[in-house]
Amino acid sequence: MNLFELPQPTVPIAGCDELFPVRRIYCIGRNYEKHVAEMGYDVKRSRPFYFAKPADAIVQSGSTVDYPQRTEDLHHEIEFVVAIGKRGSDIDVADALDYVFGYAVGIDLTRRDLQRAAKEKARPWETAKGFDQSAPISAIHRAADIGHPAEGRIWLAVNGEIRQDAGLNELIWNVSESVAELSTLFELAPGDLLYTGTPAGVGPLVRGDEVTGGIDGIDEIRITIR
Ligand code: MN
Repeated sequence: MNLFELPQPTVPIAGCDELFPVRRIYCIGRNYEKHVAEMGYDVKRSRPFYFAKPADAIVQSGSTVDYPQRTEDLHHEIEFVVAIGKRGSDIDVADALDYVFGYAVGIDLTRRDLQRAAKEKARPWETAKGFDQSAPISAIHRAADIGHPAEGRIWLAVNGEIRQDAGLNELIWNVSESVAELSTLFELAPGDLLYTGTPAGVGPLVRGDEVTGGIDGIDEIRITIR
């Protein structure tokens, strides 16, 4: 018997009663050109790079998120999220969509001041990216139901004012390429989520903000910052 009874983080699946159990959360950095530019980097098509958040950083859409400790610059990053449904490694780009269970809308909450400090000192990003409640997500929609979105509008608004507005067609690395590349670094398994990076327009959140976002053809997300 286990010493502690720990909850399994889950995400609702649209249109069915079953829940998607979260195993790992991977994220891509710099996957939209205008966001790469706004962060002060050269837009060059090298390989995508990844970081991770703990599975229990997941927050359901509709939740209130506490403004995190140790930051004065909490940023929103709206993201297209891929949910993995099949085990595999060294996956071919041509086969990668077979490993996708479905899609969701996520927000990669970021302590930008801690990230900036980490970059300056060439230190890891965990404290900037992998904190409690840092991974809000909508319901997951099965690819069997919605297909594989590749060009819908992706947007985020704060208190009704649009801050991020782009298209999935602007992704530097598409879903197939991102999943295939990730699978050369880690064995992918059912329950894995991949946040595929954010478009331009990231910015600060303050207590009381109502954050909404969405991706055409998938879903919308809503959180409140407390
Ligand atoms: Mn991000």
